[in-house]
Amino acid sequence: LSAEAQSMLEAHEWLSKLYHHLLKHTKEGKEGSTYLDNRGIQQETIDAFQLGFAPDKDNFTASFLEKKGFHLQTMVKAGLLTNHQEQKFKDSFRGRVIFPIRNHQGKTVAFGGRIVSDGEPKYLNSPETDLFHKGNMFYNFDLARNHIRKTGEAILFEGYMDVITAYQAGIQNGIASLGTSLTEKQARLLRRYVDQVVICYDADPAGLEATKKAANILQNAGCYVKIAKLKQGMDPDDYIKEYGSESFRNHVIGASVTYMSFQLDYLKKDYNLQVESERMQYIEKALDEIATIQKPFERDHYLKELGERFDISKEAMQQEIAYRRRKFEKYKDNQQPERHTNIRKNVNT
Ligand code: ATP
Ligand code: MN
Ligand code: MN
Ligand code: MN
Repeated sequence: LSAEAQSMLEAHEWLSKLYHHLLKHTKEGKEGSTYLDNRGIQQETIDAFQLGFAPDKDNFTASFLEKKGFHLQTMVKAGLLTNHQEQKFKDSFRGRVIFPIRNHQGKTVAFGGRIVSDGEPKYLNSPETDLFHKGNMFYNFDLARNHIRKTGEAILFEGYMDVITAYQAGIQNGIASLGTSLTEKQARLLRRYVDQVVICYDADPAGLEATKKAANILQNAGCYVKIAKLKQGMDPDDYIKEYGSESFRNHVIGASVTYMSFQLDYLKKDYNLQVESERMQYIEKALDEIATIQKPFERDHYLKELGERFDISKEAMQQEIAYRRRKFEKYKDNQQPERHTNIRKNVNT
C-alpha cells in the first residue's frame, strides 16, 4: 500500500468511528438518527453496518482531519473533502447519513452518503481511489461471506438500504454491486463462493434492464441465476416496509424464478395478450427463447407451460422448436451461445 493509500485508510477508520458516534450519541447526529428511525432501521442494525452521520457543517470534517495531521489534498483525492478553485477545504459528505463501504477484509475504504433532506444528489459515493475499486467488490461482502459460503447462494441487491433492510428481515447473504452495473470481475469473484445468485433489483425499468445485464454476466461466469420479482415500482426496502419480513422471505426471495421464466414473463410487456394477433407474436418470441435452451428436459418444461397457457398442442410446439433448432444448426456461426443451465447442488454445511 502506498503511503497515500495508507493515509486514506486511516482517515476512513477515524471518520467512520466519528460519524457513527455522532449519529448515536450527539445532537449533531440527531438529524441522521431521526432519519434512520423513520425508515425503520434498528440500533443493532446501525451498529452492524456502522452507520453514521456527517454533520451539516462546511468544515467539520476538514478541521477534524487537519487536527489529526492528515494531508488535506490527499483527503480531496479520497473524496472526503473538496476545494473547488482553490477555495477553502469543505466537507463532501456534510448533512448525509454515512454508509461505510468495507472491503472484503472488513476495512472501510469508501463512503456512501445519503442526503436526509431534499437535495441532489440523493446518494454521494466516494470516487475510485487506490483503495477503492468499485468494480472489484461488493457492499457488505465481508459480513455476508460466511452466510454466502454456507448457503451456496448470494442475494444481489441494488442499493445499500436494500441490503440493510433485508438484513433486518433475516437475509444475511445480501450484497450490493456498487455503482451502475455488475462487472465480469464481480461475477467471477462471486462464482468462487456460490452456485446460485438471486438477483433482487428494483422493479422499475432501470432495474429490469440491469437485471437482464447482470443475469447474463453471472451466467457467463458459471452461476445459476434466479430472479426475485417485486411488485411493479417497488424496491426490496419498500416491499419490506409495506408487507413485512416474512412476506419478503417467502414471497419474494423464496419465490424467485429461473432466468428463463423471468424472460418469458418480461417479454409479455410488449404485447397485449387479449388481442389474438399480438398473442401470436408473443408466442413466436417465446418459442425463439425456448429454442435456445440446450437441455431437452428444460425445453420441454417451458414448452409445456407455454402450451398450457395458450392452449397449443405439444406436437405443434415441438415442430416449431425443431424448426428453430435446425436453423441454429444451419447457421452455426450465428449460433446462440450455450447457456449455463445446470443446477449444481447447494453446499449445505
Ligand atoms: P433510497 O431508498 O434511500 O431512496 P435506493 O437504494 O432505493 O435509495 P435507488 O435510487 O434505487 O436508491 O438507487 C440504488 C443505488 O444506486 C443506491 O443505493 C446508490 O448506491 C446508487 N445511487 C442512487 N442514486 C445515486 C446517485 N445520484 N449517485 C450515485 N449513486 C446513486
Ligand atoms: Mn433504482
Ligand atoms: Mn431503490
Ligand atoms: Mn429504496
